[in-house]
Parts: sequence; structure tokens; C-alpha cells
Amino acid sequence: MMIKKEILKGKTLEELRQWAEASGEKKFRGDQLFNWIYNKMAVSFDEMMNIPKELRSKLNDTAEINVLNWVGTQESKTEGTVKLLLQTALGHNIECVIIPEEERVTLCVSTQVGCPLDCKFCATGLMGYKRNLTAGEIFEQYAIAQRYYDRRITNIVYMGMGEPLLNFDNTVKSLDIFSEELSTGISQKKITVSTAGIAPRIYDFADTGIKSKLALSLHSCFEDIRTLIMPINKKYPLKDVLDACKYYGNKTKSRITFEYVMLKGLNDRDEDLKALIKLTRRIQSKINIIPFNSLKHMNPDGFSAELVPTPQKRIDEFAQILRDNDITVIVRDTQGSDIAAACGQLAAVTT
Ligand code: SAH
Repeated sequence: MMIKKEILKGKTLEELRQWAEASGEKKFRGDQLFNWIYNKMAVSFDEMMNIPKELRSKLNDTAEINVLNWVGTQESKTEGTVKLLLQTALGHNIECVIIPEEERVTLCVSTQVGCPLDCKFCATGLMGYKRNLTAGEIFEQYAIAQRYYDRRITNIVYMGMGEPLLNFDNTVKSLDIFSEELSTGISQKKITVSTAGIAPRIYDFADTGIKSKLALSLHSCFEDIRTLIMPINKKYPLKDVLDACKYYGNKTKSRITFEYVMLKGLNDRDEDLKALIKLTRRIQSKINIIPFNSLKHMNPDGFSAELVPTPQKRIDEFAQILRDNDITVIVRDTQGSDIAAACGQLAAVTT
């Protein structure tokens, strides 16, 4: 009979220590495994030279490390962005994106296969929801990306496919793993988790004691318009989400990032500017303006098909007026749009 092998990637330091002891080994073998898996990013037990040969052989029989297959790579010709296509054991495809800049390299990771939220402007939403990723699958996107990429990944954003706060436990666990001393050395402050606004989970997230930054996909300050483009706003109205964000910011002593995809006629009007200015006076924050990336590759119908990007001239003007009001504004460029790796374009073809 084939025994089911224990999957080690995704276990925290404490869990690996316990697993080592439960397997009749010394507790410190858990520390060694942790270091090999998350710091050295080993792909096989045979690499683990400070673990005795007999134990390595036992590990080969009883445990596994890898949880994803790397099935494709697309490099953007224009910006250096790299999209990696990865496949889970059950054949679901997910994506992560490496975004190099002069002073840092950011990795954008996915937390779910697909997404249940159905935001009208997002390609991942259009593909529907398949399942949550495990903490190991979230981490392995980093491991594969870092092994592949010649520069060091310095920042991580949970802004790929899926809603991290609907995969709460695995998201928190993966953040713990990233920032353990024996692991990647990427501190939680260099990690941003982006949410569409799951109000009660934002409180829970703050209460875990995590120090990561929080980004809210705001996209409109008006309840009715926000509900139109983000159906989740019906369940968790913006008013409650903003209270939760304020709590998160106070608790972690960090500024909230408001992400704002510019949609012509929907959220780029003068009254939207006024509302944004008012909001940023109430909550310590900065605004991340994102040009709307086309969903044409998804052949959307209905309301999604009607969405039009705000012209660049209005984006520049919009950003300038916010800046004139002492608001920190970043206008994101459409990194990776030629390979559909830009925000909201991640929609792997799944089997
Ligand atoms: N579910 C989380 C994580 C996804 S983050 C969230 O909603 O925050 C992905 C970011 O890209 C979000 O801010 C999302 O609103 C934005 N986005 C989605 N579709 C987009 C598109 N077509 N063009 C530009 N940005 C988009």
C-alpha cells in the first residue's frame, strides 16, 4: 500500500518541530527542515547535507516538499515584468508576477485559484472560484520565483489571483513563514496584503498582531457605485470597511493604501475627487491610482464589457489635484500589460 506522504511546505517552524518529534526524531530537525525549505529553498531532501543520510532516506519515503509545478514563463518585452505560470497537484493553474524596479523587486502572489468576488473590472473574477491555496502553495510561488530570478526579491504583494482575507488562515500562516528568522528575511513590513474589503476579517487580521501593510481596493467612495462594480460591497458596505481599515492602521501604526482603478465616468469625476480628499483626511492613507487594464482577452459581456479606462490626461489631472491637497499618490503604470500580467488581468486557463 502507498502511504500518503506528509507535505512539509506550508508547515510553520513550530509545526515542523512537532512533526519531527512525532516521527521519533529530535526537535531541532524541525528547525533544520524549516531552514532548508524556506531559506535555502531546497527542492529535495538529498540537498540537506546536515541531515544524516538515513534520515534523508526516511524523509524521502514519508514526506514531500514541492507543491507546485512550474509550467510556463512569460517575460514582458517592454518593462521586464515576468509572469510565472504554476500548476497545483490537481492541475489548477495559478500565476505570480515578478515586478522589477530600480531599487526593489516585488513579487505579486496569488492566494486562491480564481476568485469568488466577481468584481466587474477584474479578469480573475470573470473566471470564477476554484479553491483556496495552502500556505505552502503561497510560499512556493516565492521559492520558484526567487530560484528563477537573478535579483533578490525584496517585497511581496498579495495582489495576484484571489481574495487573501477569504483564505484567512493560510494567508496568515504564509506571512508567519515568510518573516521567521530562519526563513526569507523579508519582514512583514515589506509585505502588503490587498483586500476587496472583508470588514470582519480586517479586524481579525489586525488582531493577529501581524505587521504587514494593508491595501484596500477602494475604487469608489460612493456605496452605490462601489456596489455596482464590486458586488461584495452589498455584504460589507464601504462605511464598515473603512472603520475596519482605520482600526487596522491604528493597530499596526501603518498607512492604508487605497487602490483606485480609474474607470471613465464612474469614479473619475470631480465629486469623486472631493470624496477622496475627505476620506484621506479621516484615515491615514495614500492612494494608488491604477489605470484600468483591458479585459479584452477574456471576452467579457454585460456590465464588464462596458467599462472604459479613464484617459491618461484625466488620470494625470486627477492625481495632481490629489497631490495639491497633500495626499501621497502613486500612479501605477500598467506593468506587464503586454503579457496580461498587469493588475486584474491574471486569469490562468484552468482545466
Ligand atoms: N482580492 C484582492 C486582491 C487582488 S489585488 C483585492 O481585491 O484587493 C488586485 C488589484 O488589482 C486590486 O486592487 C484590484 O482591484 C485591481 N484590479 C483588478 N482588475 C483590474 C483591472 N482590470 N485593471 C486594473 N486593476 C485591476
